[in-house]
Amino acid sequence: MTISTTPASPLAPVCDDEAWSAVLARDALLDGRFVYAVRTTNVFCRPSCPARRPNRENVRFFASPLDARRSGYRACRRCRPDDEAGTAAEQAVERARAYLASKPNERVTLADLARVCEMSPAHLQRTFKRLIGVTPRRYHQALRVEAFRADSRAGRSVLDAGFHAGFGSSRALYEQAGDALGMTPGAYRRGGAGVAIAYATGVTSIGVVLVAVTARGVCAAFIGDDASQVERELRAEFPAADCQRDEAELSDVLDAFIAMIDSDVATTPPPVDLVGTDFQRSVWDAIRAIPRGERRTYAELAAAIGRPASARAVAGACAANRVAVAVPCHRVIRGDGGLGGYRWGEPRKRALLSRETTDRS
Ligand SMILES: [Zn+2]
Repeated sequence: MTISTTPASPLAPVCDDEAWSAVLARDALLDGRFVYAVRTTNVFCRPSCPARRPNRENVRFFASPLDARRSGYRACRRCRPDDEAGTAAEQAVERARAYLASKPNERVTLADLARVCEMSPAHLQRTFKRLIGVTPRRYHQALRVEAFRADSRAGRSVLDAGFHAGFGSSRALYEQAGDALGMTPGAYRRGGAGVAIAYATGVTSIGVVLVAVTARGVCAAFIGDDASQVERELRAEFPAADCQRDEAELSDVLDAFIAMIDSDVATTPPPVDLVGTDFQRSVWDAIRAIPRGERRTYAELAAAIGRPASARAVAGACAANRVAVAVPCHRVIRGDGGLGGYRWGEPRKRALLSRETTDRS
């Protein structure tokens, strides 16, 4: 028997021998071209069905699920061979993915893609989302992000890599790639797995400062006695991240941190990439709003975020801050005038406050 094609699959017919070879190989490329039915189980399957292979003498081939059904067979529940739309959809989506992968640096509209896949734009959009989980546009962005990461690892600057990867501007880069490149809560929980972190260290009047950035912003700034101590702190915070020292890339960011610590004038902090609970983030945002030269008590900060009874939790969020001076938790003190704790040591907190207070006077 030669299997004829259905209108839905305008491809060359498959002969029985080819069909049986495809079944033995579980060849997904022939899904949608035919189904095979098994007399002993009364079930029909796609060629790629993961089920155990039947004996050849019990197998019949049909050009379409409808033909198999008419002959009294039931569709397999594992491979769902009568989902013909799914089969055609899978092929169309594969074509769309291949096309997008071939044009990483070009603008591809949904209409372009729909033409390539011989599907209506709306149908393609829906189908792509259903099978891949994101829209074609988002998928294309993800491909650019991958290219961007590869370039970043190869040592290109963030901005330069952004242009090279097809992002129109660095702003677009951060907007589009931020979620993928920054420290997402998931990535943070996994110790920074999958996140590329660049860091540099510099010397200040209160110790060695280490500044670490993702492509989205500063994810950590630690102060310690020497470089090896702050590097250990970084690796303890993000044990699974890909941390690379990169003095050249971070010279501006590092200068900004050194200035925030040692300069007599206010310095605008670089963008930060902070991960925390909603409560922690609201505390950190409130801390960033405290002007240089001023102080707040834990209770005042708790009131400022609308949680007046949460002074202790505010103190906890201060202690959990990973970005010294850019999130100036040293400006938050106890209600009785005591300094309160500081992750990088009370003497450093006192020194920072003393310099800032001197500025103001
Ligand atoms: Zn099956």
